[in-house]
Amino acid sequence: MIVAFDFDGTLVDSYTVIEEAFRRALEKHFPWLPLKGFWAKILTKIELYFERPRFGKHRGKVKQPFFFRWKFFKSWFEERAKLSKPIDDSKEVLKKLREEGHKVISFSAEDFVNGMKEYRLKISGFYELFDDVIVFGTEISPCEAIQIVRERYGDDVFIWVDDKPWRFIGRGDENTEYVWYYFPPTAKFVNEKILEQIHHLHVIQDLWSIFDVIERIKKERKSK
Ligand SMILES: [Mg+2]
Repeated sequence: MIVAFDFDGTLVDSYTVIEEAFRRALEKHFPWLPLKGFWAKILTKIELYFERPRFGKHRGKVKQPFFFRWKFFKSWFEERAKLSKPIDDSKEVLKKLREEGHKVISFSAEDFVNGMKEYRLKISGFYELFDDVIVFGTEISPCEAIQIVRERYGDDVFIWVDDKPWRFIGRGDENTEYVWYYFPPTAKFVNEKILEQIHHLHVIQDLWSIFDVIERIKKERKSK
């Protein structure tokens, strides 16, 4: 099977470190600024606003807000990358999946600073654990990203693991199975209305449970 993983909130916890990363970036670029802790809190609130589900007319491509081009935000992403910690034994889970013969793909959205996601995957030691790395959001939409997966890896079952299940809505094909990794900081934005729009949805609270999901999918698809 093809197993695709989102990065932030799925393989690494880069959320609980947002505030500290802002504090460090402020320290670097605005050392004269008083109350850095306060400003770090405000910036964290703004950042988390961008993490909420967005519906309505959007093509799945996001324009970089102008302020994300500032050197300050680049530093923030870098600090965030340094402070992020793997979730569960995410690296071991990826290795095991590949050992079992699955195609393992990094499948996540760009970070508002072009190339930042790839950079973060590399410095965190995740990059080489994947068969392929696909980053959508700026150059390509999530739907186009799925097209790329189909072109490269065929029509095998595509298991998409993400902590933001609203991303699944209206995307994928009949051979797509959706796995919501329940990550508390983003789970609070999930509601019934979102979940009822997703068929073939599996929910896990531990990354190792992906192996149970794979077994279940095998059984379900065999009995059809
Ligand atoms: Mg995520």
